[in-house]
Amino acid sequence: MRIIFNEESLLEEMLEDGFSQKYPTFRELLVLAKHLRNTYGYGEKRIIGELESFCSEKIMDFNTTLSRGVFTKVAKEAIKKPDMRTPRYPIVFSGEEIEKIRGIPDFPAQKIIFSAISQAKSTGSPEFFSDSNKNLMFIVRISGEKVSKKYFIEKVSPIAYQNEIFEFVNRKSSFYKVLLKGGQNVVLSMSSDTEFLNAGKVYENFVGGVLGWCLSCGKEFYKLSGKHNLCEACGDENRKSLNRARVARFRGK
Ligand SMILES: [Zn+2]
Repeated sequence: MRIIFNEESLLEEMLEDGFSQKYPTFRELLVLAKHLRNTYGYGEKRIIGELESFCSEKIMDFNTTLSRGVFTKVAKEAIKKPDMRTPRYPIVFSGEEIEKIRGIPDFPAQKIIFSAISQAKSTGSPEFFSDSNKNLMFIVRISGEKVSKKYFIEKVSPIAYQNEIFEFVNRKSSFYKVLLKGGQNVVLSMSSDTEFLNAGKVYENFVGGVLGWCLSCGKEFYKLSGKHNLCEACGDENRKSLNRARVARFRGK
């Protein structure tokens, strides 16, 4: 299972086995370009030349002319931001950040948003194309929730936006930025792939279980089962009033 954005392992795979599909993705070319920049200190022209020879070696019907524009773009970007993206541990959360997430009265959304922030923190870059199926589904997968990409875009992202956790970079697309303005007091920390890949569970354990919001008074409570919908006080009240109703019916006869 590959962790998205682990560019160092992506590089190793490419150097060994070539591209994942017949033609390279933008990310794959960028990773190669960054490698050429970091390891050999090449400039734009040299990077383009090396990418061309790498591609002609790996792709049978490779066309240099058609690829020139992309290579130039990739080389420029690699020079601007040459750091490889890899998961960076520990991934830490401050008390303020956790409070902000916990303020959202929807537990599955909390877990997905926590996972999205974990992903952002792991890459060191808070920006995602949330219309990239791969990124979204990775986040959903590590959250442990079984929801669709549509659900993420139409339900979860707007909630995160309303709570000032996501910021949309471009209103027309669903490209968003995760706002990382947590405080200094670290209360939760993930230090391995295993924890990161189970981010939703880590969050659930941290808050102490599955949270629910009382259908009657809106108060937060721990759900003991899927059908558990009322907090303790409202549950008691509900039982009492059912009893009163039964007694009244009995007397009425
Ligand atoms: Zn209640």
